[in-house]
Amino acid sequence: MLGALDCLGNPSSVHAEGRRARDLIEEAREAIEAFVSAPARSVVFTSGGTEANNLALLGAPAERLIVSAVEHPSVLEAARRSGKPVTVLPVDSDGIVDLSALDRALAEGGRALVSVMLANNETGAIQPIAEVVKLARRHGALVHTDAVQAAGKIEVSFEAFGVDLMSLSAHKLGGPAGVGALVLRDGLDIEARQLGGGQEFRRRAGTENVAGIAGFGAAVKAAARELPEASLRMSDLRASLEAALAEGPDRAHIFAKGAKRLPNTSCLAVRGLDAALLLMGLDLEGIAVSSGSACSSGKVAASHVLDAMGVEPELARGAIRLSLGWNSTAEDVGRFISGWRTFMGRMDSRRAA
Ligand code: PLP
Repeated sequence: MLGALDCLGNPSSVHAEGRRARDLIEEAREAIEAFVSAPARSVVFTSGGTEANNLALLGAPAERLIVSAVEHPSVLEAARRSGKPVTVLPVDSDGIVDLSALDRALAEGGRALVSVMLANNETGAIQPIAEVVKLARRHGALVHTDAVQAAGKIEVSFEAFGVDLMSLSAHKLGGPAGVGALVLRDGLDIEARQLGGGQEFRRRAGTENVAGIAGFGAAVKAAARELPEASLRMSDLRASLEAALAEGPDRAHIFAKGAKRLPNTSCLAVRGLDAALLLMGLDLEGIAVSSGSACSSGKVAASHVLDAMGVEPELARGAIRLSLGWNSTAEDVGRFISGWRTFMGRMDSRRAA
């Protein structure tokens, strides 16, 4: 990526510097296509997961939209602003989409785009995407999946899932922020949102972010090498972390525990403890956690995900999200547990005083 910053050519230019930039982009495109088992030239680079989701929801050839209630705001808000009829699918108490509600919604007719994320950013719950595709196909609907959180943590295959559109973001798998991709099924007639030049197969105008794209390509190559081992390691670390937090009088309630989850995510709350207090207490211990969705933290708003799962507001107010990374160690988890215990001890003395 640092090398690519020195490459000053415009990838649309035919001179040698331009061709060098073009080569960097095409190398990254091929690496990403291989990583998610997608056909050649199916990746369209964007400025991130948000833009990829916006492009899918607003640009796909559909008369109506069907989205799950736990989608990222970049899907929900795009659907709301699309001007098309929108059906929001309920989820169960683990955050898994209601497939019979999807079946009923599809039966209403009109060419639909179904958007169901592969894994949730707040709880890590993994959606039954193959079932979603099976139902959608029966009704001739298109399927988009937001794989932003899943890629790099579990196996992701565009071909095996059989989806038509899939969103990715580099910074969720060790790459830089500000670059992502929408993977598109061959021949899908999507309407561009960024208008101007003919870049990215006329699907996304604007001179490409060459260094960011090169960083995205490098990140997927590293993730591909490390994925099976990193996934198992994160899952073991999360199990020991959650076991420790389930002990003692201040037992944490783990959300979506009954669902298949990403190996790195844990969303939890301690009854009676406000998320803002927990977040600041852990910050003083040198531990960075987020309350609810990281994308909207800063404002500690109620989580639409936990709300859709039917979590009582009093418990949802205390929800924090812990994320392990490909480089997290047992030592990190040990530090977290001791920081957690110190904070809980402090709360106990406050309550006793
Ligand atoms: N989709 C999901 C599930 C996310 O978690 C995020 C960001 O956290 C996004 C989309 C947006 O991605 P980006 O930050 O690259 O715009």
